Amino acid sequence: MREYFDIIVIGGGPAGLTAAIYARRAGKSVLVLEKASVGGQIAASPQVDNFPGCPGISGAELADRLYAQVEDLGGRMELEEALSVENGPVKTVTTDYGAYTCGALILATGMKHRSLGLDREETLPGVSFCAVCDGAFYKGKDAAVCGGGNTALQDALFLSDLCRHVTVIHRRGQLRGDPILAEAVKKRKNVTILLDTVVESLLGGEALTGLLLKNTVTGETRELAVDGLFQAVGQQPEGVLAQALGVANDAGFIPAGEDCLTPVPGVFAAGDCRVKEVRQLTTACADGAVAALAACKYCG
Ligand code: NAP
Repeated sequence: MREYFDIIVIGGGPAGLTAAIYARRAGKSVLVLEKASVGGQIAASPQVDNFPGCPGISGAELADRLYAQVEDLGGRMELEEALSVENGPVKTVTTDYGAYTCGALILATGMKHRSLGLDREETLPGVSFCAVCDGAFYKGKDAAVCGGGNTALQDALFLSDLCRHVTVIHRRGQLRGDPILAEAVKKRKNVTILLDTVVESLLGGEALTGLLLKNTVTGETRELAVDGLFQAVGQQPEGVLAQALGVANDAGFIPAGEDCLTPVPGVFAAGDCRVKEVRQLTTACADGAVAALAACKYCG
């Protein structure tokens, strides 16, 4: 017999965990399914300065606190990957370990890292997506961060405290991230910013030893010796389940409005997987609350 929950939330990031908090407080039984680690992307953020009331908190601590709150309220969480959803008045979610049923489903599947698409980027030691997770491997060494957004800038700041030298490589003539972060990076003596530059290929046999760079304006190429490359080139939606349910657009985002409703009865969307203008921690949490209350109403 498959276990039944009033609400299953797929995704254990800020949107999903907030949804679980609201649903539990409304007295509903809740299961959160998370395939990787609690907290989603925010868990990898070294410092979060824009979550109201918690300036300076680390992403990992914020994730731990959100999870503890869900647990204290009696919510259940399983580290399992939701592989498919069978729709109907009772929905069945099949995971890599088993299957669960529910009355309402909240998709809070967030985004995943975009990669540069370079040859060997998935297998060559020295190539990473997460400065907080892997930065310590490059203590006293030289690292590069590819990207010009806030993640790249935050990674550069974090790594510059550990590494001998950090090179930020950005394809445009201007950084995209917040000016306050860009200024902080520019002040670091051991950080160089290379604009109008792309990574052409990864160098090294058994591990990364350098990058072949190309200046997009002059066409010049050069080699840069580095021990680590951090790819911080944005994210894309985790859209597979939503696409299978017929609630995602071609890019994989769910075009649900501020009410978090999808065209499928009993299926709701919350957080970065939803089509929206502003993808921030606060807006993800707001979606979690809205989706949970809508799901509670749907369950009756
Ligand atoms: P992002 O803002 O989308 O930036 C991605 C960067 O990667 C852009 O500079 C982009 O270049 C570059 N890029 C994309 N594809 C590339 C490719 N194939 N080759 C080379 N470069 C490529 O992503 P993010 O930095 O991960 O941030 C995501 C969201 O989270 C943003 O809204 C951000 O503000 C937010 N965030 C906030 C904080 C904070 O508030 N502290 C921290 C982290 C993230 P172009 O500029 O040319 O597009």
